[in-house]
This record gives sequence, C-alpha cells and structure tokens, in this order.
Amino acid sequence: MLENEVRFGKLKEECGVFGVYNKDRFDVARLTYHGLYALQHRGQESAGIAVNDEGIILQHKDMGLVPEIFNEVVLNHLKGKIAIGHVRYSTTGASLRENAQPMVVNYKNGQLALGHNGNLVNAAELRNRMEENGAIFQTTSDTEVIANLISRYRIGSDNIEDTLKNMMKDIRGSYALVIVTPKRLIGIRDPHGLRPLCIGLLENTYILASESCALDSVGAEFVRDVNPGEIVLIGEGGLTSIQTEASQQTSLCIFEFVYFARPDSTIDGVSVYQAWIEAGRRLAREHPADADVVIGAPDGGLNAALGFSRESGIPYGQGLLKNRYVGRTFIQPEQGKRESGVRIKFNAMKSEVAGKRVVMVDDSIVRGTTTRRIVQMLKDAGAKEVHMRVSSPPYKYPCYFGIDISSSSQLVASKHSVEEIRKMIGADSLGYLSLEELLKTPVGSRCSFCTACFNCCYPMEVPDEGDKLAE
Ligand code: SF4
Repeated sequence: MLENEVRFGKLKEECGVFGVYNKDRFDVARLTYHGLYALQHRGQESAGIAVNDEGIILQHKDMGLVPEIFNEVVLNHLKGKIAIGHVRYSTTGASLRENAQPMVVNYKNGQLALGHNGNLVNAAELRNRMEENGAIFQTTSDTEVIANLISRYRIGSDNIEDTLKNMMKDIRGSYALVIVTPKRLIGIRDPHGLRPLCIGLLENTYILASESCALDSVGAEFVRDVNPGEIVLIGEGGLTSIQTEASQQTSLCIFEFVYFARPDSTIDGVSVYQAWIEAGRRLAREHPADADVVIGAPDGGLNAALGFSRESGIPYGQGLLKNRYVGRTFIQPEQGKRESGVRIKFNAMKSEVAGKRVVMVDDSIVRGTTTRRIVQMLKDAGAKEVHMRVSSPPYKYPCYFGIDISSSSQLVASKHSVEEIRKMIGADSLGYLSLEELLKTPVGSRCSFCTACFNCCYPMEVPDEGDKLAE
C-alpha cells in the first residue's frame, strides 16, 4: 500500500528533475515551475529552481510543495536562459533545507547547479576519501559528493566533457542528473539506466525531465529518452551527445512501473498506464477470486484493479474513498490511535461493498499495518469477504537506489510467508503477482530491469545494510 505507507511516513518516493535551455532568455523559470508541478508525485519534501543568468546562478529553494515555495515575485526574479528544477524526497541526506536541491557550487569556470534523482551506493566511501584530502562538506547529501567531484576534476581538465566522464568513473549507484554550467544545460543518466530521464522540445527550447508527463504539462514534444550512460550537452549549437560506457545489461527500476511514475508517462518506450493495467490482468489470471466487485486501494491500486476487473469480468467499483486534502502536513494521531489516522485518510463506500465479496487490489504491501486497517474498515462496512491482490511480488529486500527503506526488518514479506501475511492483514485470501509475470507488464519494452527488492539481485555491489550515509 505504497500511497498510504508514504503518507503515513513509512515508504518514501525519490526525486524528480527538470531542465530548460532557451537561448532567447524565454521565461525558463516559469516553464521549470510548471514542469516541477507535474513531477510533484516524485517528491513532496522540498523543491527548488536554479537559473543561469549570464554565468551567475540565481536560485530559490525551500521545504514544502512547489506551489508553496514559488510565487510570481520569485519567478520574475529568476531570469536567465538555462534553468533546472528539483523536487525531493530525501534518501541519502536528512530532510533539511540545506539538503534541498538544486545544489549550487563554485568551480574553476564559475558556478554550476546540479539536481539529482537517485542514490549513490559509494557516497560514504568517496566522501571519506575527499575529507581526508581536506574537502569540507556543507550538507549530508550524496549530491554534494557529485558536485565536489566535478569541481575537483574540472581543475585539471580543459573541458567539461572529460570532467563529467571522470566523475562518472568514480560514482556508483543510480542517478539522473541535470546540471547548469555557465554555458550549457547537461543531462546524465547512470550506466545502468536505473532512473529515467527524457528529452523534449518546445519550439526552440530544449527540455530534460524525469518523466514525459512533465513534457506534456508544458506543451513540449517528446524527443527521446536519455540512454543509460549517456551525457547530453545542450548549448548554443544545439544538442550533442556523449555515450560513455553503459552497463552490458540495463537495469531500469521496475518500481517505476509499479508505483513511482505517473500513469500518463512513457518511460523507455513503455506506457506506465498500460503496464499497470497489464499487471492487473495478469494478477487476475494468476490469482483468480470468486467475488462480486473489484476495488483499488487509492491511488496505487486503482489502475491494476481496472485491469483485474477487465480480465476477470467482475465489475469494477469505487470501494474506498480517499480524502485528497490529507497531505504532507497531516499530524498523526497518538501511537495506539493510528486507526483513526487511516479513517481520516480513507473511508469505505458502504453502498459498494456491503454484503459483497470484495477483491481489493493494491500495488504492494510494505509493513502491512495500513493494509490490515483497511481490510478491517471494509469488513466494518459490511463486506462479506475481502480478497487481497497485490500487483507486484512480495517486497523483501531494501533498495539502495532511491526508495527510503533502509532495512529489510521494516518489510513484512522479508520475515513472513504469504499465508502469515494473509492472517496478519485479516484478508480471506491473498495473492501476489509473481516476478515472472511482473516482468511481462512493461509491454513492448526492450530494456531489462532492476528487481532487487523482490529477488535480492542487485545490479551492482551494494553496501551492508546500515552502511548508508547518515539519514
Ligand atoms: S531495488 Fe527495487 S525499488 Fe530499488 S531500484 Fe531496484 S527495483 Fe527499483
């Protein structure tokens, strides 16, 4: 129940990035603001925009949501021809204003600003090494490690291309980066392609974005995805590309199609919405249920529930209502009264579930506590039976590349069998989509995927649990 778990402070999203280059100094900050609005689902903790005004970087960032941070006065101040923006949920680095991005640093040729979606697995090691050599860090973010490497390599290098290639040789992990230098907008995707990044064009304005929905929101045309290991440089002469060594096998995060991305986005050629529908269809075939109605847990389970309904022929209904005004600032009830927290956020639709055998579809179960409360809520509303179906496999292992679950001890499936979880959540039956079936849901995809949180097959060496940079 990712959506619920997120809101109740258990599992967190990652980040979103956006970048604009317009040589005529068109209103790049306002475009970035609109792009960040479309990417808000990727991070609600802080947001920021940095603009290059003839080599001087102006920026504004703060804790909060995009519309809380920016207004007309701020946007009018951010003039220039290159801008980047960032929405953040902290993975490495505490939830502090100084860790908000973009991050601006001084280097040999002036200033640069950087926005990062992802998580480095060797940030602690690199940071220790640099500190031993006299570096001083202002934040606890792994993005500052990247910024520091760029400014160090730039000292001994004639061009930014070599600097970036050297930096990429040092860092390991997931990253989709947008960078503003005095002359260019740069986008970089890690060699495994763990996090998405795409290129758009709006007349003569180039755009980089984490997801294609952000291109749509500003009226830009989708050009292509940035390839794993690719550096794109956008300047006076247009767009140039450097393909650094990519991993032999790409590892796009499969969770982008389970939960992270917006359904109206297309990532690496695959419609996120179609992947969700397909997951629901496959779930219905793998774990059928005798039931009267199929409902989705808002918001993550809604599209898979639709797929389940289409495949099974069981009518689709809205069995749970979500209070859309419960957001980031929601104050949790005291421990022991968490039940009422769930009831403030969700309510069961008695008219849809009373007297019925209900299939409830969700995108995942993390700790199981919220799922248990919702199953009980449906039963209290008169559901005769509740059959829980999950459109992804049991989530057992921590993610080192962006999801904020630092230990498998927080994951119910790492310690309990499916039958034990069924009993814990109080459902009449429980079925998870198998990994084999999940991998068939990004229909038409030509990439391979990271599935480590389901099968522990990490695409690179990862640190021991608890060996991350201080949260
Ligand atoms: S471990 Fe899971 S969430 Fe993390 S990148 Fe891999 S698939 Fe995505």
